[in-house]
Amino acid sequence: MSTVWMNQLSWVDYEARMKQDQPAILLPVGALEQHGPHLPLGTDGLLSAAVAADAAGRIGALVAPMLSYGYKSQPKCGGGQHFCGTTSVDAATLIGSVRDAVREFARHGATKLVFVNGHYENQWFLTEGIDLGLRDLGTRSTLQVMRLEYWDFLSETTLASVFPDGFPGFALEHAAVIETSMMLHYHPGLVRLDLIPDEPPVDFPPYDVYPTRKHWVPLSGVLSSARGSSAEKGAAMAAELSTRIAAAITHEFG
Ligand code: ZN
Ligand code: MN
Repeated sequence: MSTVWMNQLSWVDYEARMKQDQPAILLPVGALEQHGPHLPLGTDGLLSAAVAADAAGRIGALVAPMLSYGYKSQPKCGGGQHFCGTTSVDAATLIGSVRDAVREFARHGATKLVFVNGHYENQWFLTEGIDLGLRDLGTRSTLQVMRLEYWDFLSETTLASVFPDGFPGFALEHAAVIETSMMLHYHPGLVRLDLIPDEPPVDFPPYDVYPTRKHWVPLSGVLSSARGSSAEKGAAMAAELSTRIAAAITHEFG
């Protein structure tokens, strides 16, 4: 069986896989969120799913259909909620989806579940959903869960070569060089290089205000420039990410 995608298997084949080789289940999590004029709304999920599929292929794991809606976009890392197209869920909704997933995959007999997050704002709500799901299952459960943000697997060496002029930090890397380069690698037909805005990195104050200040965020929605993106950089990052994520799963779960 060659596919890594769980939703392409029949239940009979899926059950056989679960019984025979106890594959890790990778569950990508994304968001529907503006990514500037040059990238699609689904970028976070498209990238977490692509990285998950590459990692899964290396270790015989399966990839479950992604959770496509993320927690509310924040001005300093995703531009904020005021953009048309950005479509987010309340924390309780995301926590509930994750808690349900933990319970359901445990019921299938899964012992290794990996949430592959592609949207910065999701992380603590994934953590909460995992915690509540494991609490529901109780101490007899053999399910182990990993949560990761895929960009954390980029090495200093790779970041230095992707950002020869210095790395602006992951929070400002929204619709910028990392995501644009990785989209050029995985989904080149969805990238509009001609529409990349040329703006300096945003300088946010060290606090937040509610209701959010829309004028803090450029009209384009891009927080630092995507100039300098390339498919070659995307390929190098994708290779490193999938290799290191696969190694981490093997290291923790065997
Ligand atoms: Zn993104
Ligand atoms: Mn995001």
